[in-house]
Amino acid sequence: EVILETRALETHFNIGGGRMVHAVDGMDIEIYKGEVVGLVGESGSGKSTLGKTLVGLTPKTAGEALFQGQMLPAKYTGNDYKRFSQQIQMIFQDPYTSLNPRMTIFDIIREPLMLQGEGRRDIAKDRELVASWLEKVGLKADHMSRYPHEFSGGQRQRVGIARALIVEPEFVVCDEPISALDVSVQAQVVNLLGELKDSMDLTLLFIAHDLSMVRYISDRIIVMYMGAMVEEGPADELFFNPQHPYTQLLVSSNPVADPKREREFEHDAIIGEVSSPINVKPGCRFAKRCPKVMPQCEDQTPTLVAVDNRRIACHLFD
Ligand code: SF4
Ligand code: MG
Repeated sequence: EVILETRALETHFNIGGGRMVHAVDGMDIEIYKGEVVGLVGESGSGKSTLGKTLVGLTPKTAGEALFQGQMLPAKYTGNDYKRFSQQIQMIFQDPYTSLNPRMTIFDIIREPLMLQGEGRRDIAKDRELVASWLEKVGLKADHMSRYPHEFSGGQRQRVGIARALIVEPEFVVCDEPISALDVSVQAQVVNLLGELKDSMDLTLLFIAHDLSMVRYISDRIIVMYMGAMVEEGPADELFFNPQHPYTQLLVSSNPVADPKREREFEHDAIIGEVSSPINVKPGCRFAKRCPKVMPQCEDQTPTLVAVDNRRIACHLFD
């Protein structure tokens, strides 16, 4: 059963001077109920923008996104928020900036209920509910009167997870939920998400730049490069036997763990050094960096083709 589907989805940004950033540039994906789909690519590949477009935080510019057969609006209004935020939630990358420092943990976790609730809520019942969620994510009920700065990064991310899941959504976009955390707590947070996924029968889109970590939690992996899908396949097969030259590079290179290096990538992506989805021309977007580049790669855009249980966009597989 397909829970989420996009058709030629585009999210472009006008950055002035006649330049358009093609952050998401024609994505066709299908996500099945109960699946964990990993979405992998360098910073600037458009993976976060795709996630934000699906939860209504960034408006799409063309194409369609359907959730359980219902068309998601280009931009959420108040009513759309009520309708879809009960079913689609997001866990954010940076637990240091995504929680309001002036709100108590109780108010932070309760907020999604307040945003979609009709009329007054019973505060005593909400305290019980928030207490039960704190325990589900491995924190304590008496943490609810504290503030975010009193917690470590890993604990804050647990708060972010409770906040996203308290409305019991069907589908959760996890936008690099472990990238800002110490390596020692990354696995704990991934395991927690895996447990909650099983107990709540969730469907997850798990965004990351590190393929090796995503592999553990994902059933299937989608690799994005400059706004477009370059390869998709079962997680382990894709990891151990990458076919697209870009996936091969991702698997062979060390993950970008240093946030400073991350920002450089982002910067390069914008100014066009590494990967620039600005004013995209025909041809393979990876041609400048591809060790297997061929003459037709310069001016013919490869389309996704099915190869066994993969989809690959590369002229080597035409
Ligand atoms: Fe490399 Fe050509 Fe394939 Fe692009 S289409 S990944 S340039 S071989
Ligand atoms: Mg990102």
